[in-house]
Amino acid sequence: MPHTHRVAPGASIDLSKAPTRADGFHDDKNAARHEFRELREELVEWQRRLYAHGQHKLLIVFQAMDAGGKDGTTKKIMRGVNPQGVRVESFKVPSTRERAHDFLWRIHRVVPPAGYITVFNRSHYEDILVPRVHKLVPEEVWQARYRMINDFEAILAGTGTHILKFFLHISPEEQRRRFHERVHNPLKQWKFSVQDIEKARDWNDYMAAYEGVLAECSTAAAPWHVIPADQKWYRNLAVIRVILDRLRTINPEYPPHGYDPEEIDF
Ligand code: AMP
Ligand code: MG
Repeated sequence: MPHTHRVAPGASIDLSKAPTRADGFHDDKNAARHEFRELREELVEWQRRLYAHGQHKLLIVFQAMDAGGKDGTTKKIMRGVNPQGVRVESFKVPSTRERAHDFLWRIHRVVPPAGYITVFNRSHYEDILVPRVHKLVPEEVWQARYRMINDFEAILAGTGTHILKFFLHISPEEQRRRFHERVHNPLKQWKFSVQDIEKARDWNDYMAAYEGVLAECSTAAAPWHVIPADQKWYRNLAVIRVILDRLRTINPEYPPHGYDPEEIDF
């Protein structure tokens, strides 16, 4: 039985003790890669059915520190699916227009419609993490957002949206290694910004903010998973297992076509 890394509602997680490596969960990189590729083929088939069936919605949320693997996991997992039924939404620093609305406005307009899988690369959780760590608003303001988010996600879940949330948990050492690679590899330099260094200095504050989010917002309707993410091969496998587990439960079927193929005459 593969480990799901799911956070039980109300459980408190000490991220400094939560594993960032596969040790104890998996020890065979090649076997993991092989299993991942098989599961991805299965995902491609489920996505086809989900789209054809046209009723269920799946929202996948990725949060992580910079260089934590949000882009990489999205790319790996979604390779091969029909782009017609899938959307990826990346959330940046809110624009002036977005800021003029409530923090869920820009989120709600891009949640998955019926038949779609939407991946959030960052999310409404940024609106707790960033203001808390950088003290941009009074504490009551970001504190109140836990409940607002739980209510919002409950509305989505109650109207047919499956929600799976993943915190890709890397160690500060692994982040430093990836930053170094980004800064020195001409193909990756664009991914690095000097603000990333500033945010890395606030590591412990960010971990405390994530711990708050995990404790307050992992619900039965929208569970969080804390994925050991230093090793990409394990991260990808752990994430796709959770997604497939859900798709198998949803079990979307191709819809009835409403005609007798024998009677269609060309
Ligand atoms: P990236 O994902 O590397 O393109 O960076 C996007 C940046 O936007 C990150 O530094 C995020 O923390 C920041 N960001 C995203 N959403 C918000 C938000 N709601 N409030 C403040 N900063 C945000
Ligand atoms: Mg970045």
